[in-house]
Amino acid sequence: MLIEKYDVEVFTPPCDPGAERYAARARLNVDIFEVLAYLNATLRGAIYHPAAKALTWKKGGHNIAFHDYEIATSNVEDREMAVKELEGLIALVNRTWENRAQIVPSHDTRQRPTPMAILKLLPQTNCRQCGEPTCFNFALRLATAQKNLAACPSLSEPKYSNQLAALQEMVIDAPSMG
Ligand code: SF4
Repeated sequence: MLIEKYDVEVFTPPCDPGAERYAARARLNVDIFEVLAYLNATLRGAIYHPAAKALTWKKGGHNIAFHDYEIATSNVEDREMAVKELEGLIALVNRTWENRAQIVPSHDTRQRPTPMAILKLLPQTNCRQCGEPTCFNFALRLATAQKNLAACPSLSEPKYSNQLAALQEMVIDAPSMG
């Protein structure tokens, strides 16, 4: 296991005193910089910043940052959830490191796709089968890694195969945080 020991700190961000949202960080006893390229290859919507030794990711409305000796999350509803999320992120890093032989690391800094760029490739029928009121709402959720392409059944129709392939290039499915 890569990360075995860490210290957790949960706090209310100083820029938002009194807000009922929390931030948390885990200070690590090992350097995880090498794992960031593997996470970059597998986490949908992650942005890799090699010069800063960091990778940022947005999941479920939470802002997550992986650094060489630290993992942080913010905009979390309560303290308990913040700690639980950090534990899930640490498990994700350990799992990714253990599976690195099956992953081609990526050192590219990917631009997050805009909702409009995604919308252009969706069927644009506003059929609601994805649970969203419009294709644009679905595009917004895809852009922020809150939905998977599989949630749009229309995309599996043969006539959308080219669009689906382009979307799969644009957004990478995130593994479960377990
Ligand atoms: S299921 Fe697909 S086509 Fe239907 S509204 Fe959602 S994104 Fe649009």
